[in-house]
Amino acid sequence: MYLQDLELKNNTVLLRVDFNVPLNDKYEITDDTRMQRAIPTLKFLIEKGCKLIIMSHLGRPQKMLKDDGTVNVEKFTLKHLVSHLSDLTGINTAFCPSHDINEMSAATKDLGFGEILLLENTRFHKGETKGDEHFAKDLASLADVFVNDAFGTAHRAHSSTTIVARYFDNMHKSFGLLMEAEIKNANRVLNGAESPVTAIIGGAKVSDKIKLIEKLLDISDNIIIGGGMAYTFKKALGGEVGNSLCEDDYLDLAKTLIEKAAIANTKICLPEDSVSADAFSNDANIKVCNSDAIEDGWMGLDIGPKAIEFYSKVISDSKTILWNGPMGVFEMSNFSKGTFTVAQEVANATQKGAFSLIGGGDSVAAINKAKLSDKVSHVSTGGGAMLEFLEGKPLPGIRAITS
Ligand code: AMP
Repeated sequence: MYLQDLELKNNTVLLRVDFNVPLNDKYEITDDTRMQRAIPTLKFLIEKGCKLIIMSHLGRPQKMLKDDGTVNVEKFTLKHLVSHLSDLTGINTAFCPSHDINEMSAATKDLGFGEILLLENTRFHKGETKGDEHFAKDLASLADVFVNDAFGTAHRAHSSTTIVARYFDNMHKSFGLLMEAEIKNANRVLNGAESPVTAIIGGAKVSDKIKLIEKLLDISDNIIIGGGMAYTFKKALGGEVGNSLCEDDYLDLAKTLIEKAAIANTKICLPEDSVSADAFSNDANIKVCNSDAIEDGWMGLDIGPKAIEFYSKVISDSKTILWNGPMGVFEMSNFSKGTFTVAQEVANATQKGAFSLIGGGDSVAAINKAKLSDKVSHVSTGGGAMLEFLEGKPLPGIRAITS
């Protein structure tokens, strides 16, 4: 199940990674974090003398077809990644532009041990996202061993992430090192984490995070709420939230979560004050007010100074911290203080010995922007996948390896 347990010497390995990196108009990689995070697995396999066949998706080519209905190959081809992959590994990387089985087999045959072949974007194949068995079987036929290191797509039952694993027995498939770390770190928060456990949940909508919050009630001592979702809670408790983001359909549910928290002995922390603005703009007029007394025409776009002070203390006293979602509209400088202070406090608590998991999405963007990603315990590469894992949903890409 783990890479270290496999007999790998001189094997051909089919490795699924998440190289879904952003490219600019010139097709240059603007952030190679996802490639960097897979490199330890690549190096491990190369050092074992394996032939390495790497597959990944890039973007959503099937959803962004050209006007004539065909795939925009130039925009989504993995060819753009080949030279950077060679630089990162120090090994000249070959590229197979086709998913035709004869071409993929020929390219594999040409590969020497300790060498790398990158296959074209798996989503160029029409069957990939449908979990097509023929495509999965063709891919599986290329190799002796399957390794999945693509945590970011573990919640998808695609041919190259999940279905392909059916063609390998338990002695011939495993997680890669990144995927192993993602699973172990998430489990460290979910199962028997050291107290006090604090979950910091932010972002736009409460509706996206209900299942997560319900799950966290069982394991957390504190749940810190920030971002737009805080105002649904404030209104549910009778507050005036003006024009703040608020999901009126979820007021009852927010109330129920607060009641469940009291029963579970979990403290729900809501922002006492907010930085409010008279428009959704960095140039808007701003003022600090109580989060339950926001005037009409004004909206809460960040947590206020009292909330920052209180949240900082809770985070500082924690031994286990999970963070998912920003405290405000951190993309605009006037509403970023809450999020960046939380980032700093999580880093400080980690330096004092706490375990911290940055659980995907915009909190990852925030911790990176604050240049603190190496000061926390683990920054997840999986947005949706990490959210589903933490909610307790079985992920098909994980089950395919363990079952
Ligand atoms: P999510 O994807 O649900 O984690 O939400 C992230 C987004 O929520 C970011 O783009 C933030 O700008 C936005 N956001 C955070 N706080 C607020 C707020 N108070 N009002 C409106 N949007 C917010």
